[in-house]
Amino acid sequence: MSRFRSLRWRLTFLYLGLLAVLLLAGGVAQYFAAREVLFRTNADVLASEYNAVFTAFRKANASRPAAALRALILSQQFTNELRSRNTSAAVFDLNGGQVALTPASLGTEQVPTLTTQAYIDAARSKPRAYYLATGSDGTTNYLVVLNVVRNGTRPVAVAQLAIPTSEIDQTLRADRLLAIVGSLLVLLVAGLLSPLIVARALHPLHQMSTTAGALAAGDYKQRVTVPKTRDEIGTLAVAFNQMAAGIDHAFEVRRRSEEQMRHFVADASHELRTPLTSLAGYIDVLGRRDMVDAETLQASLAAMQQESARMTRLVNDLLTLTRFESGKAPSRQPLQLDQFVNQALNELSLPDRGAVESRDIQPGVTVTADPEALKQVVTNLAQNALKYAPGAEQRWSVFTADGRAAIRLQDTGPGISRQDLPHIFERFYRGEKARDRSAGGSGLGLAIARSIVEAHQGTIEAASEPGQGATFTAWLPLAA
Ligand code: ADP
Repeated sequence: MSRFRSLRWRLTFLYLGLLAVLLLAGGVAQYFAAREVLFRTNADVLASEYNAVFTAFRKANASRPAAALRALILSQQFTNELRSRNTSAAVFDLNGGQVALTPASLGTEQVPTLTTQAYIDAARSKPRAYYLATGSDGTTNYLVVLNVVRNGTRPVAVAQLAIPTSEIDQTLRADRLLAIVGSLLVLLVAGLLSPLIVARALHPLHQMSTTAGALAAGDYKQRVTVPKTRDEIGTLAVAFNQMAAGIDHAFEVRRRSEEQMRHFVADASHELRTPLTSLAGYIDVLGRRDMVDAETLQASLAAMQQESARMTRLVNDLLTLTRFESGKAPSRQPLQLDQFVNQALNELSLPDRGAVESRDIQPGVTVTADPEALKQVVTNLAQNALKYAPGAEQRWSVFTADGRAAIRLQDTGPGISRQDLPHIFERFYRGEKARDRSAGGSGLGLAIARSIVEAHQGTIEAASEPGQGATFTAWLPLAA
């Protein structure tokens, strides 16, 4: 039974119920309209019959004086002339008294009568189009038409013509039967078709509930077919698919970030393991010896210090990275970029560290930035150039373009290979050459630079042709 509680069946029953009510109302209205038309048409025929007979009667008796004509009208002879095969005739005086009557030549002997008042009213004012009366047997019904008989303009009597309604009733019965059979047929066809039509219209809803189940079970690629008709269900299907795409995207983002996190943790652990293993090794060696000579002790302690410094650097780098990647806004202040870069480069004293330095600093460029963080960007770029392009020229420039400020470092070193270039800003990524070189860092320098620049709503990019040096440009929004 519960399946009939579904929307599909509820809509079907509602539709069929409405259709049945409309068919019934239409049928009843049509029946009464047809009945009225049939009664009126027959009444008109009787009225015309009366007019024809009375006109002929007056003509035939035109020579008689008025009193004689009146007497003739109020006689059986007149009713005899008025009646026909199916039609009975009767004449009543102006007080409703019955004067003469003649039954129809065929059928029953009955002549129906109305109330005396009905005849009096008819004589006084215009009679109604027709009256209905029951015969003396109590079962036969008659259609009665009254006509005021006038001698000149003076009313003389009321003539009644009546026919049994059996033929009209028969026609109406046939009409009723036809209407009932037709309505039942219409209901049957509607009953067969409407569940199919409703099911078709509701199909996307079914699909949506199945798809929602699949989404809940973790299949985020499921979508519903959008029906061609852009009705409410079509709009719902479009919205549903948008929601499914949104969920899919959100989970994809989450999956990717979880994967990145896993990689990050694995890489960080890996990087930390190397100095830790090395420290453990030294401790182990020193611990096993009974006597350690001063030289070995000094060398071991120096190596251990180096490893611990390396670890500290790495941990600091990781902290910096997470600080900026968590999206925390750096404490920014207006910064004269020309002064700032000049000062940072002076502090780095690159020529003392073997680099050839040149500067092309445009004055009057202001940004809003965290000076400590921005200094780290400059430092990381400079140190990379010192590491990967030792002894080469470092050309530093500060300029504005497209409404943005730029800090650019161009070196004349060996450049970056094509395979490395797209990855150098990734965390822990070390270029091919850096990997087997002890001087190479942990692969976090450029990742930190990028996270700092991006925390300032800027971008950082690298360009390089192998053998032609490398160019790094950090773009920052200009101060308003
Ligand atoms: P690392 O700790 O290895 O220096 P970075 O993130 O700073 O990590 O740099 C990533 C890689 O980019 C380096 O391993 C190196 O291969 C490459 N790289 C960075 N700067 C330069 C440069 N100026 N010239 C050539 N290669 C560079």
